[in-house]
Amino acid sequence: MTNKGSSVGYLSCPTCDVEVPLAGDEKVGEHVYCPYCKTPLALRKTKEDDLYLEEDF
Ligand SMILES: [Zn+2]
Repeated sequence: MTNKGSSVGYLSCPTCDVEVPLAGDEKVGEHVYCPYCKTPLALRKTKEDDLYLEEDF
């Protein structure tokens, strides 16, 4: 399963691997908190335009 474009509903937390819900209008660089492990995460985008979450301590 691949995520295309910006219509992403969930992204995996890199720390605990839980699915973090997104509203869908988050911007790249925006910070979200994992609801499970409370890790601060930053929204990033790959060269292929795929969104992912990166730990941002
Ligand atoms: Zn987490």
